[in-house]
Amino acid sequence: MIKRNIPPTRYPYAVERAYERGMKQMIKNMVHITLQEYDRAIKMNIKAYHADADELTFVQRVLQLVRALTLNIFSSSEITNLANTFVSGLNLFNMKNMNDQARVAGVNPIQHEKWLNDFVKSSVTQNVGYIKSIQSQFHDKIEAIVYEGMKSGTSMKEIREQIMRTGKVSESKAELIAVDQSGSIHGQLTKKRHEEMGVSKFQWLTAGDSRVRKEHQNYNGKTYDYKNGANGKFPGSDYRCRCVAIPVFN
Ligand SMILES: [Zn+2]
Repeated sequence: MIKRNIPPTRYPYAVERAYERGMKQMIKNMVHITLQEYDRAIKMNIKAYHADADELTFVQRVLQLVRALTLNIFSSSEITNLANTFVSGLNLFNMKNMNDQARVAGVNPIQHEKWLNDFVKSSVTQNVGYIKSIQSQFHDKIEAIVYEGMKSGTSMKEIREQIMRTGKVSESKAELIAVDQSGSIHGQLTKKRHEEMGVSKFQWLTAGDSRVRKEHQNYNGKTYDYKNGANGKFPGSDYRCRCVAIPVFN
């Protein structure tokens, strides 16, 4: 039998990076607006609070300012668009890759994917939730920083720096989400499509760098069936996993 050269399953690096960039841009805007508002109105009220004993009024005013500020920085449609672009990007990337494999293997290309709409919808919803949680965690943290700062007399400059550091924390969260979700959604799409093509076995392939966990290094190059996976695991199913499944055609 002639050995067919099946195109390998590829990891969606470009889609992952675009998602990460999109989230980071949103966070940068959020930090920018927060700092603007801090310089414009919040600082003034903290100063007034320090000068005057009418504590409640100024504390409440400051917290109201913070709350109003962070509530609408990410608009709902902006978040949904970002999550949609991400999931659609993964889908298109994977579909092309899987169809290339099907063509070379001589099996039917992907069509009538009844599960796809629901899968895309639930993946988008999940990612909208993750982005919103970045925003609300940022919001809570800023509120705490400003409140604690006021109470303990932290300098204006230090409070400002704490706000900026909180932005950096949010950016690293975005990075983790982008990697985890890319591997996870991409892995599920691959599995569903391989199974629809009649592929019942796959070969585990790691990203081949130093970040690959020991357990997955052990799976690398070995063949597993789609029913059981490797001890119930599939490429992309573990947190931040960038492994892929190479189809084994009969
Ligand atoms: Zn892995």
